[in-house]
Amino acid sequence: MPELPEELYARAKDALRMPPVEDWETFPFDGEMRPRALRPPEDRERPRFGEGGVDCHRCAAPDDEYLWVNERWRLWAFPEPTGLPLIVLLESREHYAEPGDLPDELAADLGVMLARIEGAIRGLGNIGRVHVCRWGDGGEHLHWWFLARPARIPQLIGSFAAIWDDVLPPVPEEQWRADLAALAAALG
Ligand SMILES: [Zn+2]
Repeated sequence: MPELPEELYARAKDALRMPPVEDWETFPFDGEMRPRALRPPEDRERPRFGEGGVDCHRCAAPDDEYLWVNERWRLWAFPEPTGLPLIVLLESREHYAEPGDLPDELAADLGVMLARIEGAIRGLGNIGRVHVCRWGDGGEHLHWWFLARPARIPQLIGSFAAIWDDVLPPVPEEQWRADLAALAAALG
């Protein structure tokens, strides 16, 4: 079993390391940096939005807030352009909290959906990679991120793409709308 949070904190708080970010081509920031002080553990996990499906705004959202829906899944796009070419979120229609909570049939269908959406986004062109991610620390309602990063700009590869999204200026709105429409069309 991994160590208790209190054990980790006691071991780590005075032993934080500063990685050589100046050597990392993909690191988005420059200048003098140091790690933030590690704060002690809290008594319990902070509650997430919509825990147990109570006041869950994803459950309450109507289908017309989504880019694409079927009977099991709904695909949501940000209401305005992002720094990366495209970011969409796949949500289960029913309220589930964790991937491991899905019944087998839905979990199998999730695999099909992840592949279909990834392929459809990549098919838009000029996309170097589609990162398929699940964090789930904000809202509880199960959702998967699709982060499309531009092709041929090596600085934007890897997990820092999620940070570069906030650094790059937003995609021109017309371009972004056309790409979303093409994605919806590709998904049928
Ligand atoms: Zn929900």
